[in-house]
Amino acid sequence: KLNEKIVDLQGNIRVFCRLRPLSSREQDEIANDDEAPDLKAAIQYLDDGKMLFHGAMYDYDYVFPPETNQDTVFSEVTSAVASAMEGYRVCIFAYGQTGSGKTHTMEGPRDDRGVNFRALEEMFEIASVNHDWDYDFSVTVLEVYNETVRDLLVKNTRKGGRNDEPDDLAIRVTNKGDVFVEGLIDCSVETPSDVEELMQLASRNRNTASNNVNEHSSRSHLVLSVKVTGTHKTNSTKVVGKLNLIDLAGSERLKNTAAEGQRLKEAQNINKSLSALGDVVNALGTSGGKSKHVPYRNSKLTFLLQDSLRSSAKVLMFVNINPAPKSAGESICSLNFAARCR
Ligand code: ADP
Ligand code: MG
Repeated sequence: KLNEKIVDLQGNIRVFCRLRPLSSREQDEIANDDEAPDLKAAIQYLDDGKMLFHGAMYDYDYVFPPETNQDTVFSEVTSAVASAMEGYRVCIFAYGQTGSGKTHTMEGPRDDRGVNFRALEEMFEIASVNHDWDYDFSVTVLEVYNETVRDLLVKNTRKGGRNDEPDDLAIRVTNKGDVFVEGLIDCSVETPSDVEELMQLASRNRNTASNNVNEHSSRSHLVLSVKVTGTHKTNSTKVVGKLNLIDLAGSERLKNTAAEGQRLKEAQNINKSLSALGDVVNALGTSGGKSKHVPYRNSKLTFLLQDSLRSSAKVLMFVNINPAPKSAGESICSLNFAARCR
């Protein structure tokens, strides 16, 4: 019995590896490089989530080869999304170096949406066909940058349209163990276009905060949280679930060892928060989070998500990989991180 329980709890962490297609430029580079390895031999997709990657074997719940479309990827996370509507806390992370496909997986381009939009659409769809329950949805969007928390749904932007005040919202924990962020804007949503609008606002707020949009977004964690409250139509039973969708900061190590000041601090904070996340997920996976100490306090991100990173929660981790040979070193670091989560 005890063994069964442990196995069951371990079952709440899923790790998916997704490789993105090579860009045409990357393909040209490989074609023009005599020393480039044969990628067909170097990266092999085997059965049951196994992958051979430059000589080492990895084993995940699922490996999505480069040609996998958004629909197929989403089909593997649909049941976790649905369980948020049954009252579960769910986290879906995208981990990987900058340029590996995290934002493509989570947000996706306008004409080929990723997990975020599809998840909300799916939830609205489930709500519309479930006639026994009424559902309310609300969304928060924040970013964690340099261990500070910033609301991305602020409408009254200051200073001529720029929302560039370095707020740092406080994270509080109630005596029941629930987490809330003080003053964070919580928007109620009813349709996919409500969500679309909020995501655009979030993205404008994120961009105006920085001179270099891509650099900034690769150095901060984006957290989109959907709270779903179900009320039974006849007996008024309430069920509250939460789905957290997290586009993590780039996992690449600092190349320039001479970096100092802001850049060094950023890199240290990213490093700290990603390894804290790995430690927390690992503690959940190995002990069900029961007996072992789970170190939530080591970073803002894990502190913020602690009520959704419990043994009773469902955690899905995408490890995104750029298959280009020049990224192999970083890819192996990401694959190892993911292997440790499982
Ligand atoms: P990250 O968020 O990890 O920095 P992006 O999601 O921005 O990476 O992806 C980097 C580039 O690769 C983008 O131009 C993106 O459109 C492209 N890309 C990523 N994943 C895919 C995919 N599965 N199919 C097609 N293009 C992709
Ligand atoms: Mg990105």
